[in-house]
Amino acid sequence: MTSLDLTGDVVDLTRAICDIPSVSGDEKALADAVESALRALPHLAVLRDGDAVVARTSLGRPARVVYAGHLDTVPIADNLPTVLDGDILRGRGTVDMKAGVAVMLKLALLEAPRHDLTFVFYDHEEVAAKLNGLGRLVRNHPEWLAGDFAILGEPSDGTVEGGCQGTMRVKITVPGVAAHSARSWKGSNAIHSAGAVLDVLRAYVPRQPVVDGLRYHEGLNAVKIEGGIAGNVIPDLCTVYVNHRFAPDRDVAAAEAHLREVFAGFEVEVVDAAPGARPGLDKPAAKEFVELVGREPQAKLGWTDVSRFAGLGIPAVNYGPGDPLQAHTDGEHVPVPEIRRTLEVLQGWLALA
Ligand SMILES: [Zn+2]
Repeated sequence: MTSLDLTGDVVDLTRAICDIPSVSGDEKALADAVESALRALPHLAVLRDGDAVVARTSLGRPARVVYAGHLDTVPIADNLPTVLDGDILRGRGTVDMKAGVAVMLKLALLEAPRHDLTFVFYDHEEVAAKLNGLGRLVRNHPEWLAGDFAILGEPSDGTVEGGCQGTMRVKITVPGVAAHSARSWKGSNAIHSAGAVLDVLRAYVPRQPVVDGLRYHEGLNAVKIEGGIAGNVIPDLCTVYVNHRFAPDRDVAAAEAHLREVFAGFEVEVVDAAPGARPGLDKPAAKEFVELVGREPQAKLGWTDVSRFAGLGIPAVNYGPGDPLQAHTDGEHVPVPEIRRTLEVLQGWLALA
């Protein structure tokens, strides 16, 4: 097993954990390395569930901060091992989100932080929501995640991103009547009828509501369309898959009601959905942290695991090094100064004055 040196430089540590490949489903080697590095620190109690590793201080501080990051990456695209190119670290996982994980591991060295800390390293973030390691911890051991404020170390360009938008996918089924295309008037073309669904989407004006002081931006988009069986058959079925991204002033039920209203008269089936999370920046621990970072907080538009903490009643924000737009790209990279700055901000906050 590769052993990780937590006492060295944070950039070397980032490289070391990127260079242990951990595509979703294959996190064991990295989880083992993280677990053994943490078990060597006597001030932490270390727990494990599958390939998720949780480490906690118990100093009896009045507040507990939960700091979470995923260990997995999307598939490697000929972009490992990492390459250090001046001030830019390139390679799979650098920005999403092993630089953030390296920062977490460095903070785990703090023996007497001013808040009690719970570090959560988890598996299966980049795949179907039902496999998500943080979701599994919520189901199996919610007490491991107890806390007053949570930070998710996903890349946020060094600013605090509050809350996140929810997401819902629906399947809209448009029926027709099959016929030979030589006698098309005997049937009814489902693909043509689906044009009415596309008209709704093209005319749709998404909301941009302000929630707890942050502006969100919704979206409603077709993401897949299926129909037709042969070159001489009038199709009797066309299916349009639509993805709705909704601001956190609406819950899943409200988002579904909205879609049923928008697509009234069509057969609408919800495929999957995940709620958003309000930013919660009015909570004292969140306020203290935002002031310390010193940059204007932004609304998080993509869905993140922040909403799993919101579901536990724990206000949560995203804060991590690097540009989220780099995530999942073949040229994925993170600026080295941002890794160092994130670590300095968090060390400054958590170190005892
Ligand atoms: Zn990520």
